[in-house]
Amino acid sequence: MKSIFTWIWNIKLHNKILLALVLGAFFGAWLNVSKYELSIKHLQDGKEQSVTIKNWDSIELVDDLTQTIRGTFEREDQLRLLNYFQSLTKTDKSNLVVRVIKSWKTEDGTIQSGVETFRSIKSIEKVKTIPLYIKPIGTLFIRLLMFIAIPLVLASLIVGASSLGNIRTVGKIGAKMVLFYACLISIAITIGLTLANTIRPGDRLSSDAREKLLVEFTPNIQSKIQETVDVNVVNTIVNIVPTNAFAALANSEMLQVVFFALIVGVTLTMIKKEKSEPVIKFFDGFSDMMIRMVEMIMKLAPLGVFALISATVSEFGFDILQTLFWYAATLLIGLIFHQFFVLGTFVRVFAKMNPIKFFKGIRDVMLISFTASSSAAALPVNMECCEVNLGVPKKITSFVLPLGATINMDGTSMYQAVAAVFIAQVYGIELHLSEQLIILLTALLASIGTAPVPGVGLIMLIIVLRSVNVPEEGIALILGIDRFLDMCRTVVNTSGDAVVATIIAKQEGVLGKTNLATAT
Ligand code: ASP
Repeated sequence: MKSIFTWIWNIKLHNKILLALVLGAFFGAWLNVSKYELSIKHLQDGKEQSVTIKNWDSIELVDDLTQTIRGTFEREDQLRLLNYFQSLTKTDKSNLVVRVIKSWKTEDGTIQSGVETFRSIKSIEKVKTIPLYIKPIGTLFIRLLMFIAIPLVLASLIVGASSLGNIRTVGKIGAKMVLFYACLISIAITIGLTLANTIRPGDRLSSDAREKLLVEFTPNIQSKIQETVDVNVVNTIVNIVPTNAFAALANSEMLQVVFFALIVGVTLTMIKKEKSEPVIKFFDGFSDMMIRMVEMIMKLAPLGVFALISATVSEFGFDILQTLFWYAATLLIGLIFHQFFVLGTFVRVFAKMNPIKFFKGIRDVMLISFTASSSAAALPVNMECCEVNLGVPKKITSFVLPLGATINMDGTSMYQAVAAVFIAQVYGIELHLSEQLIILLTALLASIGTAPVPGVGLIMLIIVLRSVNVPEEGIALILGIDRFLDMCRTVVNTSGDAVVATIIAKQEGVLGKTNLATAT
């Protein structure tokens, strides 16, 4: 027994994370949330009771006061029922009677049916499985990574900018960075558009499947449509300058924090050395401490990854993968191509680095991005991996990576292009070349406006759809599979950032010149 523990303990961290990912996926698939069961909490004799409803034929929701039937739901309609219940007001819920109609075979082979009635309903939910109970462990892990991001960026960038020297060098690096980011995003969108127009996943969706998806997911998209923010480039640029630096830090406004840290760092070079040195030394020590913290938190990664993946897989309805197979396949082909071919080529050509070494160096970043679906959560890991494994100095990572996490989203932009064309195809709308160019432009801008957290790409997609007059309700078609595709596209988002950081370090002649570099 002891030797098993020693063996597990000695496995390298990235292998442990990978193992946790695979085991978590199996565990979640094994204990998946049933599509056919419901948990009802209701009051009986003044006490709260919880019952699990299995094997029901249909459920009627009845208004107790008027005795009118508000809705009838078949076994397949679990999601519709839950959405409907959510949409009721508190008073409606308290007047609700749930009638569960069941039938069963008796010993002599005849079919009997019966009705079970519940009143004073408190909640109707899916039945929770073990993975959902352990999910908070994963959430804790992600929160630990997120809370590091802002202080880490602040401290490293102040030190980094002070060693870059002057605003001109910062401007030169900034311009190169924007150019590479824009170039990679445009390539990603072009790949997405080409694939979506060649494979035509929308034409492969049956009209039955389309109706079913629209009925099931339309109630979930209303709030998302209201959430949409406009992409306003001028505002985005103006907002980079904070009115209150501390509010920017407190609200995790990444672009504003980067701006503040850059100005502080550069200005430090303009005052007397005896005054600036202690400040720089303080932030240098602070940022090294933060990097050490990331290393410590990453020791928990296998646990966090296991908990998150098992909960996600457990909740995920695999049927949707079958229904939206061609849509998912189109995007996945594009993402894989971009990740390994386009990014690999960029690394080889512009950073003169072996792509295998590069991808090995960022494997923890890829695993965490996939699990957390958040570029922000992966940012501290990305900074650590680029510095330690690839030899990109702090002054480059602290500048290029936080900006990349906010503005560079190759995966998300490609996803928006594929999704827009897919939805248009399902609605029978033919998008001409000019409209495809509009998609390219809006997806590029939407990438800047997309916050690096789960699911925001879907909301920004609404802007892309509006720009070419494709019905925005169409996002109901792809909502069910969004979480899974979000995981995949986030890997490409963060890898793109690491590519540009490596390239810029190479071009500035500082790749490998970090005192942390100990390539693994
Ligand atoms: N989850 C993505 C990210 O954090 C954004 C998105 O596509 O929703 O990079």
